[in-house]
Order: sequence, then C-alpha cells, then structure tokens
Amino acid sequence: MNASASIGVTGLGVMGRNLARNFARHGATVAVHNRSAGRTRALVQEFGHEGTFVAAESAEEFVAALERPRKLIIMVQAGPATDAVIEEFVPLLDAGDIVVDGGNAHFADTRRREAALRERGLHFVGTGISGGEEGALNGPSVMVGGSTESYAVLGPLFEGISAHVDGEPCAAHIGTDGAGHFVKMVHNGIEYADMQLIAEAYDLLRQVAGYTPAEIAAVFRRWNAGRLGSYLIEITAEVLAHTDQATGAPFVDVVADAAGQKGTGRWTVQTALDLASPVTAVAQATFARAASGQSDLRAAYRGLPGGTTPPLSRTEAERFTSQVEHALYASKVIAYDQGWTMIQDAAAEYGWKIDLGAVARIWRGGCIIRAAFLDRIRAAYAADRDLVSLLGEMEFAMEITDAQVPWRETVASATRRGIPVPAISAALAHYDTLRAERLPAALLQAQRDYFGAHTYARVDRPGQFHTHWATPGRPETTN
Ligand code: NAP
Repeated sequence: MNASASIGVTGLGVMGRNLARNFARHGATVAVHNRSAGRTRALVQEFGHEGTFVAAESAEEFVAALERPRKLIIMVQAGPATDAVIEEFVPLLDAGDIVVDGGNAHFADTRRREAALRERGLHFVGTGISGGEEGALNGPSVMVGGSTESYAVLGPLFEGISAHVDGEPCAAHIGTDGAGHFVKMVHNGIEYADMQLIAEAYDLLRQVAGYTPAEIAAVFRRWNAGRLGSYLIEITAEVLAHTDQATGAPFVDVVADAAGQKGTGRWTVQTALDLASPVTAVAQATFARAASGQSDLRAAYRGLPGGTTPPLSRTEAERFTSQVEHALYASKVIAYDQGWTMIQDAAAEYGWKIDLGAVARIWRGGCIIRAAFLDRIRAAYAADRDLVSLLGEMEFAMEITDAQVPWRETVASATRRGIPVPAISAALAHYDTLRAERLPAALLQAQRDYFGAHTYARVDRPGQFHTHWATPGRPETTN
C-alpha cells in the first residue's frame, strides 16, 4: 500500500467516523481503520465522495498507508480499549511517529502512556476533543497535549478542522503529556457547574416567581441576547419551550428528575481534592446529580418541613427575575474562576506552561460551554498573563460588585422558601471565603493543635508553635 495518508483514524464509532470525515472534507487524505472492518467499509461506501479515504482492513495496512512521520488518531473508549489499541499499533511504528488519543482518557493515564511511548521513541499526544458527534464533523474544540515537536506537525491539521470564532481556530497546544486531557476534564467540570447553575435559576423562576416553563423560556431567550449569551442558555430556552407530544404537558415536566453522569465531573472533583483546589461549584453540581438519583433517600426526606413565603405579584416577579440574572451571572463568573484556578494549580503541580487566555479562546466555539463571556476571559488573560483570578480584572470586579444585593437576595429567598440552590450558594460562599479579612481557619488550627499537636503559625512572629493545653493538674505551656 502507498503511504499517501497525512492522517489516520482508528476506531470509527460515532466520534472517529465524523472526525475522519471532517479531515477528509478539509482536503486531507485520511487512512481509516476499525477493529471490525464492516464499519470501515460502511464509512467509505457512505461518505467516500466527501474526500479521499484509504480504507485499511488490518493494522499493518493502516500503518503502511500513513506518510512519515505517521500520525494516527485512536478514537476508542477510554481505559483498557485504548491500551489494547496502543499495544496493537506500537510494534508497527517507527521512532518519531505520533500516536494521538482523541478519546476521553483520564489525564493520569495519558501521563503514563506518554512516558511509556516516549521511552520507545514515539510521541504520544493525549487530545481532548469536545463537541460530541456534531463537533467532530463540523468543528470541535481541540485541546492538544504532548510534545511541542508533535504539535508543530499536528497543529495545522487540528486547527484546520476545528471550530473557528472570529477567524481564529478553537484548537491549541495546551501543554506537555496529559495537559490536553486535563483541560478537557476541567471543561466538563465547568459544564456540570454551568448546567446546575442554570437549572437552579430555572427552579427559582418557576417556584418563586411562579412562571410557566414557556414564560421561563422567554426569559432565557432574553438573557441569551445579553452577557449570559451561550449555547447552554440557548438550548435551555429551547427545552423549556418544548411541549411533550404524548401528553401536551411542558416537556420538562415529563422528564424524570434523576440526573445521570458519565464521570468527568466526578474526575474533576476527585482531582481537585488531590490538588487542594476549591472547585466548590463543580463539586455541588456533581453531588446535586448524585442526590437527585438517590430515590430511597429522597423518599425518606420527602414531606419534611421547609420554608414558605407568599407568592409574588407580577411586578415582584419581574424584579426577582432580574435578581436571579445577577445571581446566575455572578455565580458563573465564580465557577469559571474556580476552573481556571484548578488549571493553574495543576500547571504548578505538573510543570505545564499553560496559556490561560488560549484556553478561553478555544472554548468559544465547538464545545458545550461556548459562550460570549469567554471572549472577556480571553481578553482578561491577554491583558495580564499572570492574572491570579478573574476578579482581578476591573470589569468582572465591577459586575460582581453590582451583583452583591441581588445575589445575596436570591440565595436568601431560596433559603426562606426551602428551594435548594447548592451551586449558586456555593459560589457565593466561595466569594465570601476568599474576600474575608480573616477566616475561622484560625480556630481550626487551634483545634488541630489541641487534639493532635499539629502545631500552628502565629500572626505576630514567624515559626511553628505547639501549645501543651492545660489539663487538670498541668498548666498550659507553649513551644
Ligand atoms: P463508540 O461509538 O462506542 O465507538 C467505539 C469504537 O471503539 C468502535 O469503533 C469500536 O470498534 C472501538 N473499540 C472498542 N473497543 C475496542 C478494542 N478493544 N479494540 C479496538 N477497537 C475497539 O464510541 P465514541 O462515542 O465514538 O467514543 C470514542 C471516544 O471518544 C471515547 O473515548 C469517548 O469518551 C470519546 N468522546 C465521545 C464523545 C461523544 O459525544 N460520543 C465526545 C467526546 C469524546 P468496533 O466497531 O469493532 O466495536
């Protein structure tokens, strides 16, 4: 077989098939391969007219079809399937070849695989590809890890097929080894937080303002034209306006209220705990999904007393809607800030040099959290690459200042009425924690010293201290 393909895709499921078509539509000659050859033949038969495909029935044929340095993308399930495919191909490759894992691998697995393949002279490039089936075909957001040398070769290919916003590609080299998959994981964590914040805002408008789903859809459409403008707000309006055909009821009312998850939110929270990175909005969003599915526990709590207050008048409801907009926006700023903090914490831990503005740039299109607001985050990091927090940027700080009364009123109203707002209130608590002059962490340190001799630092002199707490018959001493 002629080595004519500039890129190869193995694993032609939902993602792989569409990614291969996207490359072909952009003029690349694409070698395609799948464990079961039926899928390969079906792809070429159905979509062969879209570009140049080289169908390979065996791993050997696939590798032989690739130009050097060979660039092959693995699009199979994360975990053992990915390891199996790597093991199958590695013996067939030569030094300098590039193996891309475009699946949703855990970044720790990517670090392990990168180290192992580096030893064998190969580049292993863990790449986060966001946007699902539609994105893979028409323009995903692509977060590329691995070596700088491999990005020099892969960059133009990924940038070519990615989504574009204002003429700029939504693909970038994030950092070495697992940095691409790490940032993809955080993207999904932020997605969990954003969705939960939106769901809480909907619940408040329904239960407190007394609006119907169709009326709330109109509110979301209005919000979508402003600073909250985003894919998630847009689809929320669509969902809320939708009527169930079978019953004529609002669609949202016929959907069972137990949320599923595939695990990337959980990965984000687990990793954040290891990094001591306080992504509380993501954590609350992940736990809220888990709690929604605890049917026995919910049955045990159901009917217990909560708060109540009289219904709002039309004018009060309109005022409340404006408060909720502030609360949603401010909480979103905090949730995103938490995500960026986590990326900074990981960069310090793993020695990644991550351009934080580029992360915002490539999330403006192709992915689920794409939003107008990301352009502002990009601009904030463009103005100051070392920005510690988004709230260090003047405009965000002013918006958060303006949100103070409505944000707090929203949380207070929800609490008085017994409506859960775990993500909105976690975002507010995070804000209050970080802005506090002094935290009760001082008391925690004293408690830790009391029961475990863990020592404490003092505000008035350097060093670590331990107090021998007074017990009957023994006076207190400090050293
Ligand atoms: P899929 O439709 O279920 O396809 C899975 C592919 O993996 C099939 O081609 C299958 O081959 C192959 N495969 C599975 N186990 C294998 C093994 N042991 N050896 C060789 N091939 C094996 O999966 P998908 O939705 O395209 O997802 C692929 C990857 O992209 C996953 O890591 C997923 O998490 C990630 N991803 C998915 C989405 C999405 O929206 N679907 C979005 C972003 C990322 P056979 O045809 O022979 O079974």
